[in-house]
Amino acid sequence: MKAAVFYNCGDASQIQIAEVPEPQVGPGQALIRVHASAFNHLELWALHGPADESYRFPMWTGSDIAGVIEQLAPDVSGWSVGEAVVVNPSLSCGKCARCLEGEISQCDDYDILGSAGNGGNAEYIAASADKLMRMPEGFDFVSAAAAPLAYQTAWRAIVRRANVQSGEDVLVLGASGGVAAAAIQFCKMRGARVFAVTSSEEKLEKARQIGADFALNRKTSNPFEEVRRLTQGRGVDLVVENVGASTWGESQKILRKGGRIVTYGRTTGRQATTNLSLLFWNEQTHIGSTMGSLSDFRQAMEMVLNGSITPVIDSVYPLEQAREAYARYERGEQFGKIVLNICR
Ligand SMILES: [Zn+2]
Repeated sequence: MKAAVFYNCGDASQIQIAEVPEPQVGPGQALIRVHASAFNHLELWALHGPADESYRFPMWTGSDIAGVIEQLAPDVSGWSVGEAVVVNPSLSCGKCARCLEGEISQCDDYDILGSAGNGGNAEYIAASADKLMRMPEGFDFVSAAAAPLAYQTAWRAIVRRANVQSGEDVLVLGASGGVAAAAIQFCKMRGARVFAVTSSEEKLEKARQIGADFALNRKTSNPFEEVRRLTQGRGVDLVVENVGASTWGESQKILRKGGRIVTYGRTTGRQATTNLSLLFWNEQTHIGSTMGSLSDFRQAMEMVLNGSITPVIDSVYPLEQAREAYARYERGEQFGKIVLNICR
């Protein structure tokens, strides 16, 4: 089969289309013919390296997959060859107390399908049948693939963990990212007022189109000052963080008393300084959030598959142009998801 592989860590120029062995279906698994596969930051982390002992070259990643069941392991029931499915990329032991409660992102063995190789940026992938979700008849594969990772992460962060309420003011940083764009949509669905920070006039317009009440350009202004002005100095109830080291201090300062930060990422670095005075005196809550539980995945995907939420798609590339897709992601030009259209 064809896959978008790299033989060395580096930049997008390392990506090439190569013939690699088709995956073998193991117990409990389905072989999926991939129709669409969406990029996440995991793509760049794996490509940029550095490689460790877990790397097996040629390597191909890809965690967001929609496709058609091509083959089923003999022990799998409840599924049929030919069904269109989307894959929950969460991998967990399935046996521990957290897994049995469905809180699989808290499993000690938690991992993400395709993040460390043998992913969905290829014509086939083998996936656990118990992580598949049926797509409605005629639902678009590109839209389905754009959703699993970003929309379950945003659902858990916004709805389950931060529990955004109607009338709250929410500041979304790094708003052009796939999860952040989904977070804007879920905040609006919950009735919050959203301030979105991004980096170009084109992206500001896109943030407004998906519901942001105020879109702020971090290249031409200090967005935290702008939010202070727009809220008459009061700040916000919640900051949605994924930027990390470069914004954490300001995120703490922009909170109202009793405010909270929810973070699901750290694009600019993992080490940040927390102001403990602000934390206790202002009774802040700092919330970490990763991926989602089985029910987070299901609820987020139901919103997408029933048409209540439309995934934000930046661009779609055929598999053959995977290198260009990687390059666009590397340059940070995207707003929403970059998707490979693999089986056309
Ligand atoms: Zn477990």
